[in-house]
Amino acid sequence: MFAEIIAIGSELTCGSKLDTNSQWLSRELEVLGWTVMRHTTLADDLDAIVSEFRTAVTRAQVVLITGGLGPTLDDITRDALGLAFDQRLIRDLQSLEQIEALFVARGREMPARNRRQADRPEYSDVLVNTCGTAPGILMRITSTGAAMSVTADVPDASQGCLIAVMPGVPAEMRPMFEQHVRPVLLDSGMVLRRAVIRTFGFGESDAEQLLGDLTARGRNPEVGITASEAVISLWVTARSQSVEEAERLSRETCQLVRERLGDAVYADGDDELHDVVAELLKSGNRSVALVEGAATGGQLAMWMSENATVGAVVKTAMVIPGEWDAAALRMLGVEPRAAENNHPEDWLTLATLVSETLRHNHNVDFVLVSSPFYDERLDSGVIMRRGYVAVSTVHDIQSFDVSMSGNLAIFRQRAARTALNRLRLMIKHESFLGNAG
Ligand code: ATP
Repeated sequence: MFAEIIAIGSELTCGSKLDTNSQWLSRELEVLGWTVMRHTTLADDLDAIVSEFRTAVTRAQVVLITGGLGPTLDDITRDALGLAFDQRLIRDLQSLEQIEALFVARGREMPARNRRQADRPEYSDVLVNTCGTAPGILMRITSTGAAMSVTADVPDASQGCLIAVMPGVPAEMRPMFEQHVRPVLLDSGMVLRRAVIRTFGFGESDAEQLLGDLTARGRNPEVGITASEAVISLWVTARSQSVEEAERLSRETCQLVRERLGDAVYADGDDELHDVVAELLKSGNRSVALVEGAATGGQLAMWMSENATVGAVVKTAMVIPGEWDAAALRMLGVEPRAAENNHPEDWLTLATLVSETLRHNHNVDFVLVSSPFYDERLDSGVIMRRGYVAVSTVHDIQSFDVSMSGNLAIFRQRAARTALNRLRLMIKHESFLGNAG
């Protein structure tokens, strides 16, 4: 069952306002089992709106329209609806009374131009607006193109297309949808269940390769892949006619995704990697110290401190914004001469020295260390940002190259997540010999 959304308003097409209504409505429709096939944004142009209304109802079983219901002359959605489906506009007296009552309640006289907000096509129903003056409109267009009032509760493909017109103001549109439109759309004949699995450690195309046939188009459940800030998310969308079946399908595919992606999966659902790591540390009664060079520049400390109870697991956090010179080393408690003897130009040696000092001074199980970064221009002209992160345990230290080209914020987030992810894997596999803590 297909749906389309039409957002009307020149303020949207000229770029001064963003069409958030279509995004919000799409999510609502998806949950109700409707597949949204098209978003259309139109300026306040009568011909364009009329033409779009006529074609949209031939493609979809539900068309949701927002905007253009105001009292001013450029608010032409009502007129377009009448013209598109050969309906004269009638003034709905009950709506008029409600609009007048709203002005009385506000202690204002109703301007004459607000009367037209009570107009609607003859064969249609009113959607009451509990948050503003503009009522919405509900109507059904039959498969032969005739308009009718919505008498049957269930929109059905054989009955043509259901149209709901709602105000553009999101604070008015959302309650109107929730109270009056959603109940009419409940029986789409489909139930949708959506789950998300978060992973870190590889790219979108690697994920696609590992998932193989699971990402095939037309499969039910669908498995979609999105990437954001180096986190790859797998969206599992199951559709069925029954809740039980949709949930079963979703569970089975989620299990297959987890099996194929293995250790890269760090969360079922919306959890952040740093929260997952904080929980792992907490539940194992383990602690960590953070020493951040410019490669993560405080990102680890910022994320970890979002968790109110993290004080129990992060014993100390320090940021070295510039070079790791004598003053910086002293701040960390490392004697600069010791660093000299240990070849300070060697990152791993320095990271080892720093983490040993911190573990000794703060009595922690793990130390996460990130290096400074430097930019290197490759022959191709690409700027490669070079940096490392290291995870140190009581028994050893492992360093990871996090170099990449591109944006500094993404470089830092990826570097910080690499450190957190490596720590997560070490805890998970007890690869620090299984007896720390
Ligand atoms: P009202 O009579 O309450 O003004 P309306 O249907 O006439 O309702 P519009 O005049 O089209 O609404 O829009 C009013 C305001 O609502 C816009 O200036 C904009 O801020 C917001 N708006 C309109 N359409 C959208 C949309 N698609 N997404 C987000 N905001 C919107």
